[in-house]
Amino acid sequence: MANNENLKIENEFTPVEYDPKYILMVNALKKYFPIKGGMISKTVGYVKAVDNVTFNLKRGCTMGLVGESGCGKTTAGRTILRLSGEKTGGQVLFNGQEVYDLSKKEMRSLRPKMQIIFQDPFSSLSPRMPVGEIIGEAVREHNLVSKEQFNDYIDEVMDNCGLQPFHKDRYPHEFSGGQRQRICIARALALNPEFVVCDEPVSALDVSIQAQIINLLKDLQEKYKLTYLFISHDLSVVEHISDTVGVMYLGNLVEYGDTADIFRNPLHPYTKALFSAIPVPDPTVKMKRIVLEGTIPSPANPPKGCKFHTRCENCMERCKTEEPVQREIEPGHYVVCHLYDK
Ligand code: SF4
Repeated sequence: MANNENLKIENEFTPVEYDPKYILMVNALKKYFPIKGGMISKTVGYVKAVDNVTFNLKRGCTMGLVGESGCGKTTAGRTILRLSGEKTGGQVLFNGQEVYDLSKKEMRSLRPKMQIIFQDPFSSLSPRMPVGEIIGEAVREHNLVSKEQFNDYIDEVMDNCGLQPFHKDRYPHEFSGGQRQRICIARALALNPEFVVCDEPVSALDVSIQAQIINLLKDLQEKYKLTYLFISHDLSVVEHISDTVGVMYLGNLVEYGDTADIFRNPLHPYTKALFSAIPVPDPTVKMKRIVLEGTIPSPANPPKGCKFHTRCENCMERCKTEEPVQREIEPGHYVVCHLYDK
């Protein structure tokens, strides 16, 4: 039987005012997926994939989003881009515009500005289309360049992504994993985006190729002043590419701040445990690994109070009932944990 508690959606938040230094402002964002049950397929609960996520992203910067599998990183990225239907609550301001207030037509014209690069470069490319068509399809669709300029434009984009003009007539299966990811990057770049969600863009690639793709993303960012949301579970890659880092646990953003601050001084017990697993390339340094007990609870039935309390070695009585709120501990460094309540 449906428990009314599970069906309640709390949606109170204080709206934020647009600050022009941020290309993206995410405020109390929620994305719940209904769980259907019974003979008439009634909603009996929600999977709270993204639950109260708040952060701002400066123009031309990269924010890394990290956390274990299933913590909601990818859903957060897709919800920001409005690729997962309607949001459940909160705000997503892109250049000051609430993305979810736009009509279908307005969203269509905004789409080139907000792009995504997927984890698996093979399944995200149509096997029946030559590479030139894959890269140029949306350029044509959105009339970004004239017919006369089209071929030169695609050549230029491909060149910027390390692809040769003769690659245009080849099919995705003729390329290696790294080259396929270059094609995906070229497809996104061809639309002249301002903001790109990079969803685990290198985790399906060999380690030797990963560095090439990361360097390509960095070069393109500098050249085109791109802003990235870089989703990854690889902390070393995130440290290398990101200006700021957000740590997610069970749909919540538990800590975020400048990369240097987060890696130098992780505050949240979950961030500490996650970062304690990063290998140190010095055999004389003894690693003090914090092993998390237990498994991640289900996002369909998250623990009350702090969602991390079932695995936290610092858990206090109040953590079991009171939800912690986001606090700024040092300039630009935010954490969601009762240990830092004043
Ligand atoms: Fe641990 Fe309590 Fe902080 Fe949650 S609020 S992370 S349970 S100390």
